[in-house]
Amino acid sequence: MISPDAARLVDVAEASGGLFGPDPRGLYDAWDEFTGWAAGASIDFAADGTPVVVEELGPPSPDPRQVFAIGLNYRDHADESGMGYPDSPATFTKWVGSFTGPVGDLVLPAATVDWEAELVVVIGRRAARVAAADAWSYVAGLTVGQDYSERTLQLAGPAPQFSLGKSFPGFAPQGPWLVTPDEVADPDNLAIECRINGEIMQKSATGRLIFSVPDLVERLSSVVPLTPGDVIFTGTPAGVGGARKPARFLKAGDVVETTIEGIGTLRQVCVPAN
Ligand code: ZN
Repeated sequence: MISPDAARLVDVAEASGGLFGPDPRGLYDAWDEFTGWAAGASIDFAADGTPVVVEELGPPSPDPRQVFAIGLNYRDHADESGMGYPDSPATFTKWVGSFTGPVGDLVLPAATVDWEAELVVVIGRRAARVAAADAWSYVAGLTVGQDYSERTLQLAGPAPQFSLGKSFPGFAPQGPWLVTPDEVADPDNLAIECRINGEIMQKSATGRLIFSVPDLVERLSSVVPLTPGDVIFTGTPAGVGGARKPARFLKAGDVVETTIEGIGTLRQVCVPAN
C-alpha cells in the first residue's frame, strides 16, 4: 500500500510532453497507449515529483459516462438486510453529482445516513459482451469507495429509491488513487474495512463478493457496453448501521475511515447540514 506521505505526483501532460492531456477522461480513452507510455517512461519521482496532499485529490475518474452500483453483493449483507441472495446483480446508479475526493467533510442531509465500504472498479477499455475470463483486461484499476446512503429516502415506497437516496453531494467519495490490478497481490481477494471513530464496523474481503469483478463486467457488459472511465461500485459487506440492533446512523463529528488492502484509505468527517 502506498502511504500518502511517501507518494509523489507527476503531471502526466507535462511529463509526456503533451502526448496526453491534463483531463483524466482523455487518459481512460487512451488507456492502452497511456499505460504503454508509462511503462517505458523514465520518470524520476524523487527529483521531479511533488508531494501528495490527499485533501486536494479528486476521485480517480471524476466524470465517467456511466456509473454502476451493485446492491446485496455479499451474502452476510443480504442476510442482515433481510433480503434473499440475488440471481443477477441488483444494479442502480450513483449520479456523478455525488462524486468527491478521498478526504473531506461529509454533510449529513438527514438523521439516517449510513455507511457502505466498497471496492470500486474503473473501466479502461470499451467492453461489450465480455466474458468473465477476459474481464480483468478491460479494467483500468481499482480504488476505494464509500456508498453513503440516506436510508429513509432510499427505502421510501412503493418502489425503493436506491439511486436518489445514495446521490446526495459527497455521497460517493473515491480514492485516494487508482491502483492497476497487477499492483495488488490478488485483485480478486482484498481485505476491506470500515471504521467509525476508530471502531471497526465492517470487516470482510472482496473474495466474498457474490458477483466478482469479472462476473460484474460480464453481466453488465452483456446489456450495456462499458466505456473507458466508467465506474462500478461493487457492493458492501455486513456491518452497515441500518441493520444494527438498535440501528446506528452517522452523526456530526463522526470520523469514517474506509480501507482496502493494497489501495489505501478514505476519510470523511461528518458535519451537520446548515
Ligand atoms: Zn452499496
